[in-house]
Amino acid sequence: MAERTTRCTGIILHARDTARGDRLVTVLTQEGIQTLFMFGGARSSLRSAASPFMLADLEIYADARSEFRKLTGVTILETYDSLRQSIEHLQAASMAAEFILKTSAFGGEYATALSMLTDLLHELCSCDAGRAIGLGLAFLWKALIPLGLLPDTDACESCGKPLMHTTGTAAWYARGDAGFLCPACAQHRLDTGFPRQAMLVLSGQDLSVLEALAHAPRISAAESAHAASSAAASRVIAALAERAAEGKLASLHLFSL
Ligand SMILES: [Zn+2]
Repeated sequence: MAERTTRCTGIILHARDTARGDRLVTVLTQEGIQTLFMFGGARSSLRSAASPFMLADLEIYADARSEFRKLTGVTILETYDSLRQSIEHLQAASMAAEFILKTSAFGGEYATALSMLTDLLHELCSCDAGRAIGLGLAFLWKALIPLGLLPDTDACESCGKPLMHTTGTAAWYARGDAGFLCPACAQHRLDTGFPRQAMLVLSGQDLSVLEALAHAPRISAAESAHAASSAAASRVIAALAERAAEGKLASLHLFSL
């Protein structure tokens, strides 16, 4: 058999229409990320069903003689309608989708990515706009764990000394680094000409917020409240997420961190 139809469950991460009026849909399933073609039919129900953030059973027609894959059926399981209630909700969902696309689902951790994204979308649907971005940031921070890129919040990346979780300046983050610097190592970095404006200052509370986010079992609304309360922690999450994605995340820059 050179042709076959398969079925799987996935979330639509991205959809775009081509100049010819066809639609390209990128989906995350437990097995991978695939881009599927949908031909013509601007008013078809299939096409309207194939929109971002739908969780659906997908019917895919694959031709073994080529890379050609066509989306031939969509059965919607969950629409996450409440995402459409605010720009912040859509932005938080977009942050997660963009990060999954740019990191190839945390370096091939498709099942983990699908589970975390489903969790995020559920949580977003039950929170208000003020907490949505915090949930998106919590997702990005927790996504650094399967990537092996979560920094140590207890020790200086450079000298290894413990970072004191006290009030005042506890640690610094130099853009581009994999982890945090103690005040002495940060001063040394500044003395060697590293630009001050590329350094972020973190208090002990900021470090504790980041530690709590990483250890929490789920991306809960409680975590979002913590993340949103710490501007420095938010900026560090954004910087490390972009470092992991090896480039700018456009969805992060729709709002100011
Ligand atoms: Zn140090």
